[in-house]
Amino acid sequence: MIIPACGARVACVSSHYDDEQLVAALRAALSVDRVLDSPFEKVLYAKDASAIAPEDPGVVCLATSTAEVAAAVAIANRFGRSITPRGSGTGLAGGTIPLERAVVITTTKMNRVLEVHEHDGYAWVEPGLLNLDLTRAVSARGVHYAPDPSSQQTCSIGGNVGTNAGGPHCLLHGVTSAHIIAIEVVLPNGEIAVLGDIRGDAAGYDLRGVFVGSEGTMGIATKIAVRLTPNPPAIRTLLADFSTIREASKAVSAIIASGLLPAALEMMDANCIRAVENWAHAGLPLDAGAVLLVELEGVVDVVNDGVADVSRICTAQGAGSVRVAADATERALLWKARKSAFGAIANIKPNYYLHDCVVPRTRLAEIMDEVTRIADEQELIVLNVFHAGDGNLHPLLVYDKREPGVVDRVHEAGRQIIEVCIAAGGMLSGEHGIGLEKRDYMPLVFSAIDLDYQARIRLVFDPDQKWNPGKVLPGGSSCGEALHDASGPVVVAGAWV
Ligand SMILES: Cc1cc2nc3c(=O)[nH]c(=O)nc-3n(C[C@H](O)[C@H](O)[C@H](O)COP(=O)(O)OP(=O)(O)OC[C@H]3O[C@@H](n4cnc5c(N)ncnc54)[C@H](O)[C@@H]3O)c2cc1C
Repeated sequence: MIIPACGARVACVSSHYDDEQLVAALRAALSVDRVLDSPFEKVLYAKDASAIAPEDPGVVCLATSTAEVAAAVAIANRFGRSITPRGSGTGLAGGTIPLERAVVITTTKMNRVLEVHEHDGYAWVEPGLLNLDLTRAVSARGVHYAPDPSSQQTCSIGGNVGTNAGGPHCLLHGVTSAHIIAIEVVLPNGEIAVLGDIRGDAAGYDLRGVFVGSEGTMGIATKIAVRLTPNPPAIRTLLADFSTIREASKAVSAIIASGLLPAALEMMDANCIRAVENWAHAGLPLDAGAVLLVELEGVVDVVNDGVADVSRICTAQGAGSVRVAADATERALLWKARKSAFGAIANIKPNYYLHDCVVPRTRLAEIMDEVTRIADEQELIVLNVFHAGDGNLHPLLVYDKREPGVVDRVHEAGRQIIEVCIAAGGMLSGEHGIGLEKRDYMPLVFSAIDLDYQARIRLVFDPDQKWNPGKVLPGGSSCGEALHDASGPVVVAGAWV
């Protein structure tokens, strides 16, 4: 039994006859080959990159335009069906898992760059455009799209809007929300609206800001005006190695406390270094307990001063060596190692559960000790590769789900990690979103009043509660249901929390 958001709905069960009529109507509006209903085709859209169990999508629509999205929404509404928007499906919180046999509307075929205005600092793009393809498309004009999730080769701009994605360079530039100027949206009732304004911050309430990070619960983005950032005149990249995670963590706190703001400040621990170096061959030190990858960007003199300052701070905090990338090739190799870390872990174990919590940077060293303790107690291998400058932890628990009892230990470790981070004054998610994964932990960080107002805002967009059911808000968020007396998160079918 799935507990739907807001607790007030009964799960929709469609009949076989309805399904046939629905598919026929969608095929008439889109095309036969872009409306998928065979189990073989639909299985690809049943899950995302999280460890959460798949669910059967009722039907999958591969839309090619705003008009097609609006038509699919109108048809789904006519049949009383739920809708789950989907980009590339790389989400790590279960955000695209189609509960209630939702109609999945995926934007992968809407992947064009529509207009580029580099002198005005923005471009209009379609939501299915891959993050890295956007930067590739505009880089010859001296600009780039700053948010760079490690998944940037595969994740879409629409999905980035859905999750308010982060990335290594968001330390300096801010997460997705700071780079989205306006969004054309097909709203839950099928109307088309533009939230935000390319002429500047729109007067009135910031509905663009509300929509970014709404995880497919308030409509679907069909065109997005993204901010373009000028390429910096100078970039320098450093790799500092430490004997322990604790030393590296203290160096992170010391760099930030010194007033320096690197463009990126990333950490990899020993397990991760070994996994990555085995195939990336980036010259990572195999005997190190942890490395920091630090990037500085800006005008030449300031960047050179920053290199000297970071080197001095790292050395003072115990760094064995500080390597400065000699050229763009070496820099690219170091980033390849960092951004490919998740792929490299397949050499260790076949399954992973990647966590995403934020802690105050001053507490980083002690929380990293706790993460190690928790993994040891549960007899699990943990790799750490994360946005250390933001205090955004990514403990990566690797396991083989065929091992008896291991899945339970993975979830127990995950629960303890989340609780330790929250107790330290942290936040549930730095970038992956809430989805199904963290939904039932929301009362740990939000008051009943706060959750009630979040639920009310959602209802303004989606009064029939048809959009991405079961995601983000736990049952009882509105209507004054008692959530906060609960002793802990609720375990629901389909969601591992
Ligand atoms: C190896 C790996 C590394 C990763 N590294 C990072 C990282 O560094 N930073 C980071 O933030 N994330 C990271 N992620 C997670 C993931 O890539 C991001 O959450 C990304 O933003 C998801 O994009 P997507 O296109 O795959 O979206 P999906 O997974 O398809 O969807 C994500 C959410 O957005 C909603 N959505 C999708 N499209 C739209 C739309 N057009 N309109 C409205 N809502 C929509 C969906 O309903 C869902 O709730 C990583 C994932 C992997 C597998």
